[in-house]
Amino acid sequence: MDTKSGHPHQHPTAVNVRDSAAAVAAPSPALIDDLVVANHILFDQGVVDAFGHVSVRSDANPERFLLARNMAPGQVTADDIIEFTFDGEAVNARGRKVYLERFIHGEIYRRRPDVMAVVHSHSHSIVPLSVSKSARLRALFHMAGFVGTDTPVFEIREAGGPATDLLISNSALGKALSDHFDGHDIVLMRGHGSTVVGRSIPHVVFRAVYAETNARYQLQAGALGDITYLTEDECRACVERIEAQMQRPWDLWKAQATERRR
Ligand SMILES: [Zn+2]
Repeated sequence: MDTKSGHPHQHPTAVNVRDSAAAVAAPSPALIDDLVVANHILFDQGVVDAFGHVSVRSDANPERFLLARNMAPGQVTADDIIEFTFDGEAVNARGRKVYLERFIHGEIYRRRPDVMAVVHSHSHSIVPLSVSKSARLRALFHMAGFVGTDTPVFEIREAGGPATDLLISNSALGKALSDHFDGHDIVLMRGHGSTVVGRSIPHVVFRAVYAETNARYQLQAGALGDITYLTEDECRACVERIEAQMQRPWDLWKAQATERRR
């Protein structure tokens, strides 16, 4: 597939892959449980719908990550979690279809050793800001300091030519996206959505939820007129103070997600 030339290329959004990588060490069941809960929370909080995904770096091997098979996040169970290499090769898919956009995750883990979890979504308030030629997503309230004052927007035409389906469907596109994460923990993807990174599953879930909230507030406040945004110093101070409390919403959202699925 030659994406550089801009030739339209066809691929299904759910794909079968051979298990080409060897299992080395199994991740902990607790990590898999948290990943399952994260899938449910992100659905409950409106960050993902039938699409979107969350991954975590394996706690048994930092060169591997865990991601659900190709399915709606709200329905993920522990049996649906598959281990991948950074190249997007499956370790234990055993014939199950995988996400086409798994390259988002692998290339970010490769580029950012500090990143332990990644959320990719098409959340509804972010998309308008991914296509606006005048407005950029920018932190405007204390819960979203990590958004910062200068959010990058990934333009897939620069890496994939003028006729892609906008999906990150190979390692080259994943790498081009991951380049935008130097100094940033959220990157918008033009006409598509966003990807958010964090130091843990609760951390990235917190950030994905509040990035969407910030975007919604930005659309609402923008309709009223000019907006006063957080300064860089305020962003930094808010990240330090507020993100230290991410366990509180995680516990609440986890209890809600568990209750709903009883
Ligand atoms: Zn996507």
